[in-house]
Amino acid sequence: MHEHASVEHARQMLLDITSVLGAERVGLFDSLGRVLAEDAISDIDVSPFDNSAMDGFAVKARDLVDASPENPIELVVVAHIAAGDYCESPLREGEIARIMTGAPVPEGTESVVKVEDTMVVSGEGGVGSTIRFTQPIAAGANIRLKGEEVTAGEIVLCTGEVLTPAALGLLAATGHPTVSVYRRPRVAVISTGNELVDAGVVPQKGQIRNSNAYSIAAQVIESGGIPIEYPCIEDTYEATRETLEHAAVECDFIITSGGVSVGDFDYVKPVLEEIGQLHYCNVKMRPGKPQTMGVIGGVPFFGLPGNPTSTYVGFEIFIRPALRRMQGYQELIRPVTQAGITHDAKKRAGLRYFMRGVVCRSADGGYECTVKGNQSSALLRSVQESNCLIVLAEEPHLIKKGTVVQCLRLDMDEGAVS
Ligand code: AMP
Ligand code: MG
Repeated sequence: MHEHASVEHARQMLLDITSVLGAERVGLFDSLGRVLAEDAISDIDVSPFDNSAMDGFAVKARDLVDASPENPIELVVVAHIAAGDYCESPLREGEIARIMTGAPVPEGTESVVKVEDTMVVSGEGGVGSTIRFTQPIAAGANIRLKGEEVTAGEIVLCTGEVLTPAALGLLAATGHPTVSVYRRPRVAVISTGNELVDAGVVPQKGQIRNSNAYSIAAQVIESGGIPIEYPCIEDTYEATRETLEHAAVECDFIITSGGVSVGDFDYVKPVLEEIGQLHYCNVKMRPGKPQTMGVIGGVPFFGLPGNPTSTYVGFEIFIRPALRRMQGYQELIRPVTQAGITHDAKKRAGLRYFMRGVVCRSADGGYECTVKGNQSSALLRSVQESNCLIVLAEEPHLIKKGTVVQCLRLDMDEGAVS
C-alpha cells in the first residue's frame, strides 16, 4: 500500500490492473469511434470494375491523337451508359460511348473525355449523336481502375484501428455490415453520503443534491463506457460493503464518490481493505488528494473524493485513461499544449496542481493560459468555464507570469495534435 503516490505512479498502478475487455460484434453504426478487434478483409475488389471518373465519353485515345481546333475529329455515340448499367459490347475503333460518373467503362475503352471538352454536332448527345473532339487525350485519363481502393482478400483495416466515419464507409464497401470491436466497460457509479438527495428533490436542512452521480456518469459516457447507476449508499459499513460486493459481480469497473477522506463516516477504505485490496489512498495532487485505488474480486476500483471538482479531475487523470485502455485504445492521455501563464501563481510545494483554466492563442502566435474562476474543489463552475487543466509541477511553489506550463486539453481527444 502506498500512502502518498505520485500522479504518474498512481495512474500507472491503475493501468497495470486494467486489461482490454473481450470483443463483441455490433452493427456498423454502433462501431463508430470504437476500436476494431479483428482485421477486416475485403470480399471484393473496390471498385469491382473499371469505371468512369467523369460524365463524358468513353473513347479510344488513339482515335483522337490528331485532334485539334483546326482538325476536329467527329465520332458517333454507340452506347449510353448510366451508373448501374453494364455495357456488354466492347468499344471498337472509331466508336464512342456516352458514360456517366461511376458507370463501368465498356471493354476496350482507353480514356474518358469529360463532357465539357466536347461539343454535340448533331443529335441530343445520346446514341446516334455526333460528338466533336478538338484535343487529344492521354491513355487512361479519367478511368478509375478496378481494385484501386482495395483488392479482394486484402486487409482494409487492422485490429486496433479506431473506427472513423471513413472507416465505416470502407467497412460497408468491403462487405462488413457488422464488425467485431472491443466491448464497452460497464462502470458502476456509486455515490456515498447521507446528505445526498436526487436532482428532482428540494434539499432539506443539511442535505445537498447529488451532482456527482450525473457528472461522473457523463464522464463515463464520454470515455466510451456504460454507466450503471447504483442507489446512493448511506454512510454505514454494511451498506458500503453490500453495494461494493454487488458492483464487483455486475460491472467491469467500480467508481465511488465521497467517503474516502478521514471523516468519521468514511467507510470506503475499510470496506475495500476487508473485501478487496487497497493499493493507495492518497495522491500528491490538488484538487483531490484522497484518490483511492484498489481491486475487488478482480475488478478495478477507484474511489473519487466527494468534492465535485476533485471528482471531476480525478476521473480525468486516472479513470478516463483506464476506461480507454479497457476498450483497446492505444492513445490514453489527452493532448498537452505548452503555454505561457498570464499571471503569477502560488501553490503548496510537493503537490501537483491541476488548475481549471483557459488556453488560447496569444498575440505572438504562441499559446497563453489563464486560471479561471474560484479554484475551490467544491465548485464546479471553474470546470465548466475551462478548456484545460493547467498543470503546475510539484516544485516550485511560486510561478512567475510568463512561465511556460503544460495545459492538459479537455477540449481535445487523445491522439489529436495540439
Ligand atoms: P466526503 O469525502 O464524503 O466527506 O465528501 C466531501 C464533500 O463532497 C462533502 O462536502 C460532500 O457533501 C460532497 N459530496 C460528496 N458526495 C457528493 C455528491 N455525490 N454530489 C455532490 N457533492 C458531494
Ligand atoms: Mg461523505
